[in-house]
Amino acid sequence: MTSYLDISTANAVLSEYGRPDGLSVEALMDEQISGGLTYNDFLVLPGFIDFAAEKASLESKITKNISIKVPFLSSPMDTVTEAEMAISMALMGGIGIIHHNCSAEEQAAMVRNVKKFENGFINDPVVLSPENTVADVKEIKATSGFCGVPITENGKLLGKLVGIVTARDIQFHQDDSTLLKDVMTTDLVVGQEGITLNKANDILCSSKKGKLPIVNKDGALVALLARSDLLKNQNYPNASKVDKSKQLLVGAAIGTRPDDKERLALLVDAGLDVVILDSSQGNSVYQLEMVRWVKSTYPTLDVIAGNVVTREQAANLIEAGADGLRIGMGSGSICITQEVMACGRPQATAVYRVSEFARRFGVPTIADGGVGNVGHIVKALALGANAVMMGGLLAGTTETPGEYFYHEGQRLKRYRGMGSIDAMGQTSGKDGNAATKRYFSEGDAVKVAQGVVGNVVDKGSVRKFIQYLVTGVQHSLQDIGYPSVATMKQAVYDGKVRFEKRTAAAQMEGGVHGLHSFEKKLFSA
Ligand code: IMP
Repeated sequence: MTSYLDISTANAVLSEYGRPDGLSVEALMDEQISGGLTYNDFLVLPGFIDFAAEKASLESKITKNISIKVPFLSSPMDTVTEAEMAISMALMGGIGIIHHNCSAEEQAAMVRNVKKFENGFINDPVVLSPENTVADVKEIKATSGFCGVPITENGKLLGKLVGIVTARDIQFHQDDSTLLKDVMTTDLVVGQEGITLNKANDILCSSKKGKLPIVNKDGALVALLARSDLLKNQNYPNASKVDKSKQLLVGAAIGTRPDDKERLALLVDAGLDVVILDSSQGNSVYQLEMVRWVKSTYPTLDVIAGNVVTREQAANLIEAGADGLRIGMGSGSICITQEVMACGRPQATAVYRVSEFARRFGVPTIADGGVGNVGHIVKALALGANAVMMGGLLAGTTETPGEYFYHEGQRLKRYRGMGSIDAMGQTSGKDGNAATKRYFSEGDAVKVAQGVVGNVVDKGSVRKFIQYLVTGVQHSLQDIGYPSVATMKQAVYDGKVRFEKRTAAAQMEGGVHGLHSFEKKLFSA
């Protein structure tokens, strides 16, 4: 046996092995040897650390044209993503996809809420006239959550600005029938049309007012700037925004039936940035036709198609014009598709196969379902996904729809599969049921469930939770030795990032073991 006493030769000796330690991604994914893999079946080997974790960039594309700073999407499920979740996801640098198990009008209203949430200049503010009443402002406060309303002569945008009503003007006002002309503030600080956002922000700060109306040279109201939005901008430097308008990015899901075209028209009108064609099996004549139709009708709207788990499924959707692909069939935490349909694929293999293929055409992929912890996110990204979509991991946060309840001393929220009997039984206005469409079950006399209804524990605010996931992924990138998702992915394809399979015993070893009892706290903030 050769002995190597000179420590300085250690790196040189590595070359004698002919290949780096561990497995390349192709060797890891060789199905003939190991079958399909899940995230738990392997580990990424550590590399060399030469940067601080907080410097690691998670920026990634989710479609051909949309890039976000935090590659996380919240799933279009009716117990996960409505406006509140979508707002928080976008503020944290990800994006929320609003579900469609509701009427088209309700879904469009949610999209509109997200678009209105944070603005540079609010170009279509709510405006009232001097003849409106205190009750009208209270109504706006109740439905929209704000009560700083500019008052114009005719009660419309582009009317002559005559005052502004703020919370202070009506706070202690008992008589709801009082006309606004009798309570509004007329001592106004305004910005002139054409002013830059920075300059307008300066005026807002120095004036100590809550709102800055922007007027044209004739004194007509053209826009509004809100102090609360300024604060939001400061607190959320990673927020996913449209460059020009500074509005938050938002996505929504639709089906592939004729009435979904009308639904999409309303969503686009509300300001939608990206549409997801929501199907459990995306390789269908309906979806191909829909992708082509959306691309020809709304050429600037990006379409994410899916779900797919094979190269062949992906090829059809890429050819039809998909701008992104959603990967996953049967891996969701509430999902019984693989059990009932005999169809699907272990998620790690699906992500690798589809992503490796799609990248040749510049089509980003989203690993959807089965993400149960930070490690799963990193593994999905290492296997080629550009981003991950999460349902169960975000369920139970404050921003999800639904009420908390207590069961055996624990605070819980409901989380249900869109293919559960419960979700498929809900009516969605005149549009029928979105969940049944997702599973091609509209015409069935007997509905066959592909999902279950469950409960998840309270996770607190999703904003803190996403920050935990981000920090966790950054530390993992540091361990692997790459300062960004993009460089790590390239290194995987170049064979520099190495992997190891885990036996059942290795998986046990990698979990907590040998303790009488323990408490698992995931983060402190
Ligand atoms: P999770 O993040 O593991 O909970 O998985 C969420 C994903 O599961 C969603 O984004 C959907 O793709 C998928 N999904 C949602 N509802 C169902 C269902 O009822 N059956 C199967 N898959 C579902």
